[in-house]
Amino acid sequence: MSGKNFNAFEMAQKQFDSVAEKLNLDDATKELLRNPMREYHFSIPVFMDDGTHKVFRGFRCQHNDARGPGKGGIRFHPQETIDTVRALSMWMTWKCAVVDIPLGGSKGGVICDPHHLSPREQEQICRGWIRQIAKDIGPFKDVPAPDVMTSAQHMLWMLDEYEVITGNKYPGTITGKPVGMGGSLGRTEATGYGVIFTLREALREMGISPETTTASVQGFGNVSQYAIELYTKLGGKVIAVSSWDQEDSTSYTFYKKDGVDLRVLREITDKFGGIDKEKAKNLGYDVLPGEAWIEQDVDILLPCALENQVTGETAKKIQKRVKIIAEGANGPTTPEADEIIKEKGIFMIPDFLANAGGVTCSYFEQVQSNMNYYWEKEEVLGKLDVKMTSAFLAVSELARKKKIYMRDAAYMIAIDRVARACKDRGWV
Ligand code: NAD
Repeated sequence: MSGKNFNAFEMAQKQFDSVAEKLNLDDATKELLRNPMREYHFSIPVFMDDGTHKVFRGFRCQHNDARGPGKGGIRFHPQETIDTVRALSMWMTWKCAVVDIPLGGSKGGVICDPHHLSPREQEQICRGWIRQIAKDIGPFKDVPAPDVMTSAQHMLWMLDEYEVITGNKYPGTITGKPVGMGGSLGRTEATGYGVIFTLREALREMGISPETTTASVQGFGNVSQYAIELYTKLGGKVIAVSSWDQEDSTSYTFYKKDGVDLRVLREITDKFGGIDKEKAKNLGYDVLPGEAWIEQDVDILLPCALENQVTGETAKKIQKRVKIIAEGANGPTTPEADEIIKEKGIFMIPDFLANAGGVTCSYFEQVQSNMNYYWEKEEVLGKLDVKMTSAFLAVSELARKKKIYMRDAAYMIAIDRVARACKDRGWV
């Protein structure tokens, strides 16, 4: 989805192949796990506001459901591709397994740009997407959720269409719904907070106090904003954030030596996470090129935007002082960049562990929706902390014991769990 020759699915398969070798998986298990079990491609015709009809392309990939119903978001993005959706569905399988929740991996998407679509047109896309896939999803089959450029409102339109089609109330069909309409308290914060729960544990293991650290963040959307919120509460200082500028079709980094002010930055940010650069300049921020976030002299890097951002090229620009990278985004680091990061001795908290807070809380939402009883926010975030912390500790213990890279350790735990589930079911 980002970068001309970048193929997220090839990268996901490459990562899988290397761990499958280490785990000595047999050929049938490898074949089963390196591709989605099912995928759906369909057209969504929409009657546009200008009186024309437009056809949008939609996808759903169900990578593996051996450990439970599929789970995964739906992206609206102009550069969405089936290979991106395949990769993301595979990462969802590993993500659910690494935090040990009883769910499989799925992902969906629509090729569209919500920046240029009215709310009514977006609603039609949501309802059209459900009409095409309704019989193949459901609370005990495959449970969609929001992702890049989709929101709680999109999820509610989708749920409504699903309930119209089935004639029943099934709030557990979709997660990321608005609170009060089947959504879980804490879901908005969950992914960003989850990133910081794992970062907190990494710092604790390294004997570093968060108050002494600084960070630079790529992206200023849902994940990034809540990661910054909790990191700042722990005493850390964020000196740079970057975001995409829709008007200029490029990204910028917003730098402030004394630390960015989250509340003020939120006030000058649009709903897509784009920061207004003129207003930022007036507030005393240095507006630097988009890639500048990675070159900052900080202790922690938090890539929280999109995949393929820390590459063989950009990773060389990472400063000596950087000790930890916690991946809020999915697939931000390429395998080439991983090699550079290993050489530099930087501690990596890989995406499907670091950002698993979202799916973990989605799982909590699903549980609450299915029993139609909702927990207080503290209870949700407390349970989230327990899950994220124990997942982090299991991965870091394996990494230490076997002297392997954290990404490999996380993959080994996750893939082993899924392979065992497939074997125990007698599939392979
Ligand atoms: P979002 O749409 O809310 O925010 C994305 C942010 O990235 C925006 O600030 C945007 O301006 C910025 N951005 C886009 N392209 C950029 C670029 N080239 N350079 C700098 N900034 C850029 O999305 P989100 O929900 O915060 O998701 C971000 C990442 O985290 C995605 O990879 C997503 O798949 C992953 N993720 C999200 C969740 C979740 O619960 N939201 C859960 C797990 C993983």
